[in-house]
Amino acid sequence: MPKEVFGRDYQFLPRAQLLDYEEIERLARAFVANGVRKLRITGGEPLVRRHVERLIEMLAPLGVDLTLTTNGSLLPGKAKALADAGLTRVTVSLDSLDDDTFRAMNDVDFPVSRVLEGIDAAGEAGLPVKVNAVVKRGVNDDGILDMARHFRGTGHTLRFIEYMDVGHTNGWRMDEVVPAKTIVERIHAEFPLEAVDPAYLGEVARRWCYVDGAGEIGVIASVTQPFCGACTRARISADGRLYTCLFAVRGHDLRALVRSAADDVQLAAAIEAIWSRRNDRYSELRSARTADLPKVEMSYIGG
Ligand code: SF4
Repeated sequence: MPKEVFGRDYQFLPRAQLLDYEEIERLARAFVANGVRKLRITGGEPLVRRHVERLIEMLAPLGVDLTLTTNGSLLPGKAKALADAGLTRVTVSLDSLDDDTFRAMNDVDFPVSRVLEGIDAAGEAGLPVKVNAVVKRGVNDDGILDMARHFRGTGHTLRFIEYMDVGHTNGWRMDEVVPAKTIVERIHAEFPLEAVDPAYLGEVARRWCYVDGAGEIGVIASVTQPFCGACTRARISADGRLYTCLFAVRGHDLRALVRSAADDVQLAAAIEAIWSRRNDRYSELRSARTADLPKVEMSYIGG
């Protein structure tokens, strides 16, 4: 959420327009009734939402994989409560180990050490950790090996993500993308890697393990090797809109339905109707022209 867009004068949504925890839980239940097996809480930054561990506690009984993506800055104080509430695992965004690069990419007022503390706290709380790094040519690609070296042997899985043209606030250009293949080659030259089979159908990261047994890395090649055909991800914004693609122009208003007289069966049926009509394949159609098309911002629907 760049400060020049979301500055002091930015008019955020009134609270009544956001889904409350009961509404989120009801929607999640309707999605699970439709076959969803994994729930991920994203943001913006989800840990700034007050008592977010209460939401985790409400979602845990649904019995699905329950995870959260965070910038890690509040994890030192929250990891244990989240684990106790039933969180299954956590993903931490960390694009660089170098403070200047990290701050330049993320426009935040905390240092890398704070994120590393958060990762440690999650590990101590028993949460498996994935670390996500978006790689941007000329900005942080010189730190790929440092990141690999740092997280090798820690038990945390490091994943590199190709820089994508999400929304419009990031000013994406194709020549800023470092292909996943290049990332793997660079690491492999120093720490030999071998490919690992996907853990499940539709897994977005291609996995590689270190030949010496020091763990694994993943690469998410959404630009150079799109995987729309296997994409099963639905995203709901804080105000209850369902986006069937990360690059969708508009969402479907589920909040109106949740606040209407519709019962759970009708709610689940409405979700099924939207999903079954879906034909999204933005990444397969990506070109210089599509980068300028209207689409939702990442800070609105998470990753
Ligand atoms: S572009 Fe849309 S359909 Fe393709 S993988 Fe990404 S979210 Fe899924």
